Amino acid sequence: MKKLYKLTAKELSKLLKEKKIKAVDIVNSIFERINEVEDKIGSFVYLDKENALEQAKKVDEKIEKGIELKPLEGIPVAIKDNMVSNGEPTTASSKILSNYKGIYDATVVKLIKDEGMILIGKTNMDEFAMGSTTKTSFIKESKNPWDLERVPGGSSGGSATAVAAQEVILTLGSDTGGSIRQPAAFCGVVGLKPTYGRVSRYGLIAFGSSLDQIGPFGKTVEDVAMFMNVIAKHDEMDTTSLNIETPDYTKNLNEDIKGLKIGIPKEYFIDGMDNEVKKAIENAIEEYKKMGAEIVEISLLHTEYAPSTYYIIAPAEASSNLARFDGIRYGYRTENYKDIKDLYIKTRSEGFGDEVKRRIMIGTYVLSAGYYDAYYKQAQKVRRLIKNDFDKAFKNVDVILTPATPNTAFKLTDKKSPVEMYLEDVFTISANLAGIPGIVIPTGKNKNGLPIGMQLLGKHFDETTLLKVANNFEKRAYRIELPDNI
Ligand code: GLN
Repeated sequence: MKKLYKLTAKELSKLLKEKKIKAVDIVNSIFERINEVEDKIGSFVYLDKENALEQAKKVDEKIEKGIELKPLEGIPVAIKDNMVSNGEPTTASSKILSNYKGIYDATVVKLIKDEGMILIGKTNMDEFAMGSTTKTSFIKESKNPWDLERVPGGSSGGSATAVAAQEVILTLGSDTGGSIRQPAAFCGVVGLKPTYGRVSRYGLIAFGSSLDQIGPFGKTVEDVAMFMNVIAKHDEMDTTSLNIETPDYTKNLNEDIKGLKIGIPKEYFIDGMDNEVKKAIENAIEEYKKMGAEIVEISLLHTEYAPSTYYIIAPAEASSNLARFDGIRYGYRTENYKDIKDLYIKTRSEGFGDEVKRRIMIGTYVLSAGYYDAYYKQAQKVRRLIKNDFDKAFKNVDVILTPATPNTAFKLTDKKSPVEMYLEDVFTISANLAGIPGIVIPTGKNKNGLPIGMQLLGKHFDETTLLKVANNFEKRAYRIELPDNI
C-alpha cells in the first residue's frame, strides 16, 4: 500500500471505515513526513503531535465499538494561524500577537472538532494576511515544495505548502484578495474561496471584513467538496453569515458538463502575462470543449480597476480592524513607556511589520475627512461596477474561466516593489470585491516543472457548479502528481 500521507481524505476515510487502517496510523504517517520535509518547507508555526494522537485514539475507539464515522472523521487538518483556537497560539504571524493564545474556538475550528477531524497545528502566513509570498510573516518564510528557491504564494502560503508537500491532508486558509487561490496555483493544489457569507468568519482575525472568507485547500476537488460540507454552515455569531441550507457539495461532482456555458473574459488575457500560463489556459479551454461545454467570450469591463479599488478598500478596513492591537487588550506590549500615548505608539511601532504599517497608513489616509470622497467613496462605486459586470456576465454563462495568476511562482529573492506585488493579484481580487466564489485547480506545469493554476468563478452561492466543473477537469483532463522528493 502507498504511504498513508500520500492518500486523499476520501481514500483514507474509506480505509478507516473498512478497518484496514487506524487513525493513529494516519497521524504517525503524517508526522513522519513532517519530520522528513518540514525543515526545508516551513509550513507550520505550531504543531501538536501528542494532542493529535490523543484525538486519533478517540476515533479508533469509536471504530472498535462499531460506531459509524462521519465522512471526515479521523482526517488530519491544519489551519492558518489567523483562526482562533482555544488554548493554542494564534499569532497571525505577527510580533504583536507572538505571545497570544486563543481563548475560544473560531466557528470553523468548532466545526472541525465536531466532525472528529484531527487538528494537528497551525500554518504560516503573511502578517495579518497581507502579502502574496509569506515573506511578511514575522516568524519565517515558507518555501515552495516544487522549488525551494521559490515563494509558495500567500498569504495562506503555509496552508498551501502543507498540502503540496503532503505534510497534512487538508488545510484551511483565508482569502481577502486571492490568499487561498494564488498559493493554490503556485503550489499545485486545489483551493476554494467560497461565496462571501458562506463560511463563518467568527474567530477569524479580521483583515478586510467585507472581503475576507475562509476556505479549504486539498489534493483533489472531491476532498475540498467534502471539507466544504463540514465548514459551510450558517452561524449566528457572524452577522454576514447567510442563513441558507448547506447542499451536499459532493453530490453533483461527477455529473457531466455537456451544454454548460463557460465564459472567457477577454480582459484577463493581459499584456505581460506569462506565455506558458496563457497556453495552459488555452489548452484547458480546448479540454472543456471536448467535454461538451460551450465556450462564450465575455467582457468584464472594469477588471483593470480591481487592484486599485481593492488596495483602497482593504487597507481602509484593515486600518480600522487593527486599531484593537494597542498593547492593552492583547499580545505584545513595549517594555519602556512614559505614558499611555507612548505605550500605544511604541507597541504598534515595534509590533507591526512594514507591510502592515503601510496598509494602516494608506487606510487612514483614504478614510480621512479630506480624502474620503476622492478615494474611499470612489472605490466603493467602482466596486459596484465590478460586481455589476459579473451579474451581467452570469446572465449568459454558468461559470467563468480565467488564469489564476499572471505568472508561476517567482524566486524568494526577486525584488518586487509593493505596487508590483499588488498587481500579482489582478486575477483574484475581483471575486472578493463582488463576493462570488472562486476555485483554483492545477492545469499543468511549465517547462521548469512549476505548477500552473486555472481559476473558475461562479455565481453567488453556486459552489456546487464550480466544484462540478473543476472535478470534470481533474478526472478527465489533468491531475497533478505532488512532489515526493523534497
Ligand atoms: N495579496 C493580497 C494582499 O496582500 C491578498 C491577501 C489576502 O487575500 N489575504 O492583500
